[in-house]
Amino acid sequence: MTSSAPSIVLFQYDLRLADNPALSAAVHRKEALICLYVWNQKAAGYDMPGAASRWWIHHSLQSFSDHLKTAGNDLTIRLGTTLEVLSNLLREFPKSHVFWNQSCEPTGQEIERELLTFLETEKIEGHRFHGNTLVDPTTILTQTHNPYRVFTPFWKRLQGTLSLSPPLPAPRTLPPQPSVPPKSLPLDSLKLLPKIDWAEGIRKRWTPGEHGAQTALRKFLRNPAKFYAMDRDRPDLPHTSRMSPHLHFGEISPGKIWHAIQHAKQINRNAQDRKSYDTYLRQIVWREFAQYLLRHFPHTVNEPLYSAYHNFPWRLETDSLRSWQQGLTGFSIVDAGMRELWQTGWMHNRVRMITASFLTKDLLLPWQKGAKWFWNTLVDADLANNTLGWQWVAGCGADASPFFRIFNPITQGIKFDSDGRYVRKWVPELTGLPCRWIHQPWEAPPLVLAEANISLGETYPYPMIDHAAARNQALIAYRQFKKGKNLQSTLSSNDQGQAAYL
Ligand SMILES: Cc1cc2nc3c(=O)[nH]c(=O)nc-3n(C[C@H](O)[C@H](O)[C@H](O)COP(=O)(O)OP(=O)(O)OC[C@H]3O[C@@H](n4cnc5c(N)ncnc54)[C@H](O)[C@@H]3O)c2cc1C
Repeated sequence: MTSSAPSIVLFQYDLRLADNPALSAAVHRKEALICLYVWNQKAAGYDMPGAASRWWIHHSLQSFSDHLKTAGNDLTIRLGTTLEVLSNLLREFPKSHVFWNQSCEPTGQEIERELLTFLETEKIEGHRFHGNTLVDPTTILTQTHNPYRVFTPFWKRLQGTLSLSPPLPAPRTLPPQPSVPPKSLPLDSLKLLPKIDWAEGIRKRWTPGEHGAQTALRKFLRNPAKFYAMDRDRPDLPHTSRMSPHLHFGEISPGKIWHAIQHAKQINRNAQDRKSYDTYLRQIVWREFAQYLLRHFPHTVNEPLYSAYHNFPWRLETDSLRSWQQGLTGFSIVDAGMRELWQTGWMHNRVRMITASFLTKDLLLPWQKGAKWFWNTLVDADLANNTLGWQWVAGCGADASPFFRIFNPITQGIKFDSDGRYVRKWVPELTGLPCRWIHQPWEAPPLVLAEANISLGETYPYPMIDHAAARNQALIAYRQFKKGKNLQSTLSSNDQGQAAYL
């Protein structure tokens, strides 16, 4: 195959061969194939993936590149902006056809707009697909032709319209590159790995890449999926799927997961198991909702969806932010979560809510600060899910938990980590503390602390705030803020959705 008009597939958040409509369409064209990945080393803000994500991208690209090689092609890696790189490549390979899967992220949208204009001007064929969401987010609107802001009606509408075709198989063989292949940079030259290797904990926990994603899904389906409805709030149990980084980088499609879960449900008659499968699918639709919201409200990455919250009186202070980031707040479940995040690049959903509530309500720090820290440290850092999650907790986003709903870190710990197994795993200095005190070490009698080798203020911090007092302060700040803003109508219409997210 020596065509002078090859197919170029631009890979972004779709580093997979299976169920990849852009790749399958390019393969179908039966011309030489260029698989392109562009890294923009000058990107800034949320356009630059955080440190943990960069670690993931390196390994995911390595795995993807090996996979392409086995199938008869090679990954072409280039540096620059997508438009710069593509226009150069199209000069080298004129009349190529360009294929890509759409992204809901604001920059992905901008790239696409620029690309479409460029391709039209140059009279080059461009082919775009929806490979990363279950449906095209622009096709689902309310009766008044506005985007949905509440989950349940969105979900009902999605259920009514969803007709997913079976996932596309991974092409066994790919067309080769053009006879004079495009130049490619070595992966190492992107410098995605940290200079000082802090990633040991992440390495132990994760296997980036399409094979890793499929193995994780199989493992989940083998057993934990059956307990999902019952145990998904238990941070000490491995009963959630851990599919989030694989989904974020598109190593597996949401459609493929959807079909796998539906299939498991069809062949299983046990009512409890079937309930678990439905609960899981609902979370996949929360991801869909997050993508949808980002596509329709791109400004929410930095600004609250409800603009009334623009002037909320957040505190601007860095010491307590640092204690939160380091897992040294003195609240065991908060510290356990922040340390799990630091060591493994991931945190359980229940604990994400607890730690986010602690930052925004107990400490009254802006949700954007927390979102930024998560962005840098999560291997699954996802602009859509992270924005939705933080705005939900802070009370200013779609279907949000009202601001006055403040998580109590002690009772949350007692309820969801009753025997303290999760805390003991991530906060080893509290290992010797009996269950009764594990979520409030400062209440333990001196003798109990001494027997557990704990010296508060030395081996483990005193609580950095009094939760009851901090809660009152947050409510006062909120009431005063509300008085000036007439927030009642927004909040009451939002309240109906909160049970769904929890
Ligand atoms: C403050 C905060 C920040 C968050 N930041 C991110 C983020 O950056 N990236 C991210 O992927 N998720 C984020 N989430 C959502 C959720 O915590 C993670 O998706 C989940 O913990 C991932 O673990 P899992 O794959 O085992 O989830 P499972 O429970 O097995 O769920 C399966 C999949 O459904 C999706 N999902 C589950 N819960 C949610 C949810 N609440 N919102 C949207 N999608 C969901 C995810 O894609 C997940 O992989 C955040 C939540 C909060 C409260």
